[in-house]
Amino acid sequence: MIDVILKKGKEKAVLHKHPWVFSGAIETVKGKPANGDIIRLLDSKKDFLAFGFYNDRSRVAVRLLEWDENIAVDDNWFRDKVRVAVAGRAHILADGSTDTCRLIFSESDYLPGLIVDKYAGHLAVQILTSGMQNAMPVIIDELNTLLKPESVFDKSDATSRSHEGLETTNVLLAGTHPPELVMVKENGISYGINIAEGQKSGFYCDQRYNRLLLATYAKDKKMLDCFSYTGGFTLNALKSGAASVTSVDSSALALETLEENIRINQFEGTAHSAIKSDVNAQLRKFREDGEMFDIIVLDPPKYAPSRSALDRASRAYKDLNRLGMQLLNSGGLLATFSCSGAMDMETFKQVLAWAALDAGKQVQFVYQFHQPEDHPVRASFPEGEYLKGLLCRVW
Ligand code: SAH
Repeated sequence: MIDVILKKGKEKAVLHKHPWVFSGAIETVKGKPANGDIIRLLDSKKDFLAFGFYNDRSRVAVRLLEWDENIAVDDNWFRDKVRVAVAGRAHILADGSTDTCRLIFSESDYLPGLIVDKYAGHLAVQILTSGMQNAMPVIIDELNTLLKPESVFDKSDATSRSHEGLETTNVLLAGTHPPELVMVKENGISYGINIAEGQKSGFYCDQRYNRLLLATYAKDKKMLDCFSYTGGFTLNALKSGAASVTSVDSSALALETLEENIRINQFEGTAHSAIKSDVNAQLRKFREDGEMFDIIVLDPPKYAPSRSALDRASRAYKDLNRLGMQLLNSGGLLATFSCSGAMDMETFKQVLAWAALDAGKQVQFVYQFHQPEDHPVRASFPEGEYLKGLLCRVW
């Protein structure tokens, strides 16, 4: 095994069990590891620190796996991590009302660069590091042993793959090709998931409980679901007896699937409409038309991909939320989210306070939304925390 030696004083984060080593922290590499190889990381005094995946194409040159020198990172090591992660999700699936969740969440589950989402009997994986690419045969074998999935589909079309010098993929790894729409259940509601063509791996299961909580406010209310995708918030609100729900998204495929989901759940009789539009433009149009709502959901895509983009993203979040607040009836509810890891909850509250001032509104934070337990956060890896939201009462 090849030794990678850190510069003097660069071992602190590693000793704190942070799983990333940036290329700038490395003094020497003893030999020529292939990208994806497991290496031994040593401090400047040549003392062992940890084992990790090496990749000289990535800014994160080493992704750490194991800090105990006496534990071999072999097939059994990977199998064990998969078993522990899958077992930790069992309670989510136990009562049968939900059969979709995230089974493996990358660094947070000690498997850097691997995401596995369960869609009923099908699995969608994202492999974002070359080390994990090498480990896939044993990981797939363990997933097959534990879950006997009908298919394992590789949906690794994330830009992060390019940082590791990996090609984008969209291929079947095991089993038979999943149908165009895989049927899943979440909170007792059925969804068709387009694994191959849909966004991310097909569904945003990180909003599971947030949809449920918001739906408890929805009865007899007029709701606007912005960035609706395939209707997670929309369908939960319709099930809870919302007076009407309008869903807005710019993706035609997402809205097509949403309409299909309305039929599947036999909500055709409910007052629902879908608008294919840019959300900002549509909110301005509602303002011109004098259209008002009781509940508004704002669940935009990631505005701040990195810390350096935070200022600009904060302005975008502020403008969006100001528009939303202006369209609420007095005492109405705004459920507003940010899935930008770079934006923490305190900053998000500040952004909303500015939005309220600009909108001429008073805002009360009623509830703080976050990511669910199948998206855990490792104490030593706060970067794993990304989804946050606020339920705001607006006057
Ligand atoms: N709320 C959804 C998930 C939202 S994901 C759920 O519960 O499943 C973000 C969505 O925003 C995607 O569906 C994407 O198509 C849409 N989107 C991105 N930019 C947009 C824009 N400017 N206007 C409207 N929709 C947009």
